[in-house]
Amino acid sequence: MTNEAQATETTDGFHLVIDALKLNDLNTIFGLVGIPITDLARLAQAEGMRFIGFRHEQHAGNAAAIAGFMTQKPGICMTVSAPGFLNGLTALANATTNCFPMILISGSSEREIVDLQQGDYEEMDQLNAAKPYAKAAYRVLHAEDIGIGVARAIRAAVSGRPGGVYLDLPAKLLAQTMDAVKGKQSLVRVVDAAPRQIPAPESVTRALDVLKGAKRPLILLGKGAAYAQADAEIRAFVEQTGIPYLPMSMAKGLLPDTHEQSASAARSFVLQEADVVVLIGARLNWLLAHGKGKTWGAAPKKFIQVDIAPTEIDSNVAIAAPVIGDIGSCVAALRAGIDSSFAKPNAEWTGAIAERKSKNLAKMAVTLDQNPSPMNFHSALRAIRDVLKARPDINVVNEGANTLDYARSIIDMYEPRKRFDSGTWGIMGIGMGFAIGAAVTSGKPVVAIEGDSAFGFSGMELETICRYDLPVCTVVFNNNGVYRGTDVNPTGGKDVAPTVFVKGARYDKMIEAFGGIGYNATTPEELTNALLEAIASGKPTLINAVIDEAAGTESGRLTNLNPQSAAMKK
Ligand code: ADP
Repeated sequence: MTNEAQATETTDGFHLVIDALKLNDLNTIFGLVGIPITDLARLAQAEGMRFIGFRHEQHAGNAAAIAGFMTQKPGICMTVSAPGFLNGLTALANATTNCFPMILISGSSEREIVDLQQGDYEEMDQLNAAKPYAKAAYRVLHAEDIGIGVARAIRAAVSGRPGGVYLDLPAKLLAQTMDAVKGKQSLVRVVDAAPRQIPAPESVTRALDVLKGAKRPLILLGKGAAYAQADAEIRAFVEQTGIPYLPMSMAKGLLPDTHEQSASAARSFVLQEADVVVLIGARLNWLLAHGKGKTWGAAPKKFIQVDIAPTEIDSNVAIAAPVIGDIGSCVAALRAGIDSSFAKPNAEWTGAIAERKSKNLAKMAVTLDQNPSPMNFHSALRAIRDVLKARPDINVVNEGANTLDYARSIIDMYEPRKRFDSGTWGIMGIGMGFAIGAAVTSGKPVVAIEGDSAFGFSGMELETICRYDLPVCTVVFNNNGVYRGTDVNPTGGKDVAPTVFVKGARYDKMIEAFGGIGYNATTPEELTNALLEAIASGKPTLINAVIDEAAGTESGRLTNLNPQSAAMKK
């Protein structure tokens, strides 16, 4: 090609978006095509990116979010305008709430028509709709700004406290052309997107002084600690200090749940009795009873909080020693300050915990060993637990009410970032999106342990799982309803009670419609065999696990949040 010919070569918005993502090693898009992004998806694939197409944008968004959590790189979700965008927005909001980095890229309608409200196809002011639910939101109007727009989105998603970012791309922008050389020069490869944040030395000294004064210390690991990928440093800190620890649900596996310092089996006891609590990447939100009240007992507490977000500190109770920075740097600094003046927790504290643990574990073993017919949550989860014990590499997705509550405490995790669940909101509907995201991102099998109600929100994505032939085994805990299947309509009318589903539904037949393998399991033995076979096959599978319809409590362990149940208790 002559120089003259090269000089006239052009590129367009479509190519620049793809080039900007690829330049930043963002090579997978989770999305759903339609106007105006169908060609963008086609082109992405043609240019060597992976485009995983979903049946509903919320699940594409959830897949992107969990990919972000697993990799520290923003997961990319792409949707069409207005309704597609709104479907993706729930996932974006959930990502922001959970501190997962993702970028929701949506096509949008003509700005001039939208802003004058002249009634365009899928008219909506998406940028402003996204803002309250995103960590940041940007719109690009000129092709030469695409590189900068993508760079800003990446930085916003992963730096500091990670979160969801919205990037608005009007249809007109995608078709804009510009000189190819200038286009290439306009792209930005983001340097050091999430810089280390070293804690102030005095904050570390303050924290260590508080810790040295502790008689009954406790470490609480949250999903921020899992996200930080400082696994070796955190383990060394826990073991070097000898302090008992509790993992929040998505921090399970950061140290193996079987670790002798894990106080999970004595959770209530340690929360009540501890005098100094070191929070590492965990917020004192509702999941931790806001750091006060009965859950935390009468004993006065001092908190040390390690977090990247300074505004998190004192959000619920006073924090005696904030340590602000990235978890890797903070934990390394704390470790460096531990000298001979630091004593491991005394035997009175560790002994009391050990005693409580063995008592609770013995009690739990009795419940788990029972073999009621039909199965209940415990006997079914025992079967799954025993299979997963031999496969620590398997990703576990978990949602539901009772299914979530019981699985969280019964299924042990052995490796970091392998458990993905309803998280900070307690959201239902993450199941298949997280399962697809985890399978695509890790290349490893996924077992999704789903309540039948929770599964319903994303069940159509079974087709996506089959289409991409992903090694996902979905286990539906089928007790015929939300919470349970025994409620009755008090009027005696034809409609069933609000919590009740079709009795004896066969969810396993759903996956067969798309070429996957279905199993129906009515006993723990059948469940064990089905799960072993499903995992060994590496194929899309679904096990309909038939659970006693009378098993299950209202709202699982959240009964206290249910206004009527709470009122009745008073
Ligand atoms: P959990 O639900 O497991 O208790 P949360 O989502 O409530 O965890 O808390 C995670 C916390 O971790 C957030 O406050 C967030 O700011 C923090 N965080 C996330 N990533 C990092 C990091 N790399 N370094 C330090 N803190 C982080």
